[in-house]
Amino acid sequence: MNGEASALAPLLAEIANDAPRYYGQGRVNTSIPKLAAVDPNQFAIAVATLDGDVATAGSANVPFSIQSISKVFSLCLALSYVGEDLWDRVGRNPSGMRFNSLTRVELEKGRPANPFVNPGALVVADCLVERAATPIHTFVGYLRKFAKSARIGIDYDVARSELSMAFRNFAAASLLKDYGNLHGDPNGIVYAYTHFCAATMSCVELARAALPLANEGRDPATGQELLPPGRSRRINALMLTCGLYDAAGDFAYRVGLPAKSGVGGAIVAVVPNRMAISVWSPELDELGNSVAGFAALERLAREADLSVF
Ligand code: GLN
Repeated sequence: MNGEASALAPLLAEIANDAPRYYGQGRVNTSIPKLAAVDPNQFAIAVATLDGDVATAGSANVPFSIQSISKVFSLCLALSYVGEDLWDRVGRNPSGMRFNSLTRVELEKGRPANPFVNPGALVVADCLVERAATPIHTFVGYLRKFAKSARIGIDYDVARSELSMAFRNFAAASLLKDYGNLHGDPNGIVYAYTHFCAATMSCVELARAALPLANEGRDPATGQELLPPGRSRRINALMLTCGLYDAAGDFAYRVGLPAKSGVGGAIVAVVPNRMAISVWSPELDELGNSVAGFAALERLAREADLSVF
């Protein structure tokens, strides 16, 4: 198909060619031993436009660990179960501390700053564990529906590897439980959360999955309503302000798009009413965001004039 995304194909190719320039400037995530073994020198980018067109460069069909990007989809799913009541238990402001900070949980007395820091995502996971009979299976089905790809699954080795080192998340869940903000068993919730993070998607799948967020919650191909009216705008607002953790301000300045990153090295970004973009390159900066991915989005947004501002 030669649609809107294809017009960007030459720029995407240039960006992919340029990516090796950033290799060696960051470090692959080491908190998950299995991810530490990933080849750091990889790059992929995919753009999916509302007309159904997709353009890519690099290894755009290679699946990677989506990690914290799962938090966007688990949030959408939790909101479909509990609606706005979720916000009694989780805030909507940037946390100003690292995504796995325990100090924040104490300062906030168990009401996490937002759903994209780990404690917030644990509360979200609690909602799913409480309402879905098989939450991990339900979550994968939800991703598949958004991305329209039956290939998406969980990398159980990555999940097991993370669980062997997830002391901080177990501690956060215990603290949240102590504050009365988890209904289920804290260990079971960390287990489910870790498996959500271990979902694997390619750049093409991730860009497609985010497309409804660029289209007022509707599947652009069928018009099917995947999110109720108004919700995609709110999710985008949260991604813009909290999606890149402590780098959200810098990202808004340099890129100007709602986005969410994960320590697997991917970033997904939304251009409302136009397209969704995903990038993947495993080396991360100190704040946990992909170095080459951040730079790629900065260039794409600048040259294709995509900033929401
Ligand atoms: N699973 C990771 C964790 O809980 C996700 C972190 C991330 O991608 N920022 O630490």
